[in-house]
Amino acid sequence: MHFYSTRNSALSLSASAAIVKGISDDGGLFVPSSFPVIGKDEWEKLLNSNYPERAALVMSKYLTDFTYDELLEICNNAYSKFDGDPAPLVKTREGEFILELWHGPTSAFKDMALTVLPYLLTYSKKKLGVDDKTLILVATSGDTGKAALEGFSDVPGTEIIVFYPNKGVSPMQELQMVTSRGKNVHVAALNGNFDDAQTAVKTIFTSEDNKSELKKLGYDLSSANSINFGRLVPQVAYYVSAYCDLVNAGEIEMGDKVSYSVPCGNFGNILAAYYAKRMGLPVDKLICASNTNKILYDFITTGVYDVRREFYKTVSPSMDILVSSNLERFLFELLGRDSNALSTKMKELKEDGIYSISAEQLKELQENFSAEWTSEEDTTGMIEEYFEDCGYALDPHTAVAISANEKLKDKIDSKIVTVSTASAYKFPTVVYEALTHKKTDDAFYACEQLEEYTAEMQPEGLSLLKTLDRRHDTVCDRDKIFETVVNFLK
Ligand SMILES: *Cc1c(COP(=O)(O)O)cnc(C)c1O
Repeated sequence: MHFYSTRNSALSLSASAAIVKGISDDGGLFVPSSFPVIGKDEWEKLLNSNYPERAALVMSKYLTDFTYDELLEICNNAYSKFDGDPAPLVKTREGEFILELWHGPTSAFKDMALTVLPYLLTYSKKKLGVDDKTLILVATSGDTGKAALEGFSDVPGTEIIVFYPNKGVSPMQELQMVTSRGKNVHVAALNGNFDDAQTAVKTIFTSEDNKSELKKLGYDLSSANSINFGRLVPQVAYYVSAYCDLVNAGEIEMGDKVSYSVPCGNFGNILAAYYAKRMGLPVDKLICASNTNKILYDFITTGVYDVRREFYKTVSPSMDILVSSNLERFLFELLGRDSNALSTKMKELKEDGIYSISAEQLKELQENFSAEWTSEEDTTGMIEEYFEDCGYALDPHTAVAISANEKLKDKIDSKIVTVSTASAYKFPTVVYEALTHKKTDDAFYACEQLEEYTAEMQPEGLSLLKTLDRRHDTVCDRDKIFETVVNFLK
């Protein structure tokens, strides 16, 4: 298995080189040269494995310059930081399951990959004989930031800098980031929204001047965003794992198709589901759920991707994204792996803010993905309704996905696994208001009230935040991002 760029299929990198680089110099994303298929005997093995073993097996199909034993050691280490089973499947109603991916250190699904990535990076550097320090630059819509800070804190040979949209994340998310510890961690609020932060960070990655200046300081750049293949590959595993759990529970027979519903932002999570499907996972529908920033819904229903639109701040901030970077990887497949055609589309997007696909391509897109979107009112309405119906408190992101299922239900015959991307306690004021119709701005008060109301304990990582000092207070403008980076490193 080798890796090339979506914008240059003549490249050929090993998995470790793709992980160390993060993003290709041409601005493209690294993709595997083919999709490995999970064999019959491997499925047998997966059914009888625990989560780290399943993850190691799935990852070994792509990361062929790692041994299975190395990957198992990595996964055992990473998932020991979780509170119990890293990816439990909860049955809420007949035919409906919630895959809880938020039992990691920061209570969001980003931990599934960001606990693994620092190990992948460290092993990769060793394999390649890279001695330079690695600078991890992150743009976050809220959850990636903390998960990356947590994952890379005090990892030898790395320095991590996170940019989040100033006033664009939830109070809990902000507090998680600004209280982060570690000698090598830096955090800054960037004036602008997430797309501004993502674009500004991407500019550094594609600027030869910036990169050579960093090199002089002794740093190579890499990314912990889902543009890094090392972020994507651990995510493929939980789709496979949920399927195994359904088989083992007698809910389905091996080979039966299952639908997965995913609250989408950067399209990384659902793209991992598509990769799992290409590996032979029996998938019926992949449901792409959006909030009011419904650009993915519009694209999947019309074939036109148009960012020239208003940007909304919603109660599901981790999905407040207009330029979904991982869509590029799917588009690459849709365009028959033609990197020239893909480059043209990305150029149109950058210059005109819009591109479209042909009727035939749209048909293929719709064969793979269904889409729905949910208003703010219906999102909070769903949190209340679901709690009344199933006694289960959804976070606002997961509620967007459940709402999508409700709208599509009549068209779906298979069992539905909804991917729950955050603990309700990560967005406590929204959930508290949805459930009780009372308002508060105090996240900790809301958590306490929710514990009483739902009889579910809040994750320790969140309740401890109250006791921590704010350690990071840098604010920067978009055009000063590189100066801010250099200042942190000096
Ligand atoms: C990041 C995130 C999403 C969006 O996932 P993508 O991979 O960017 O599509 C959804 N919900 C939560 C809670 C998140 O943190």
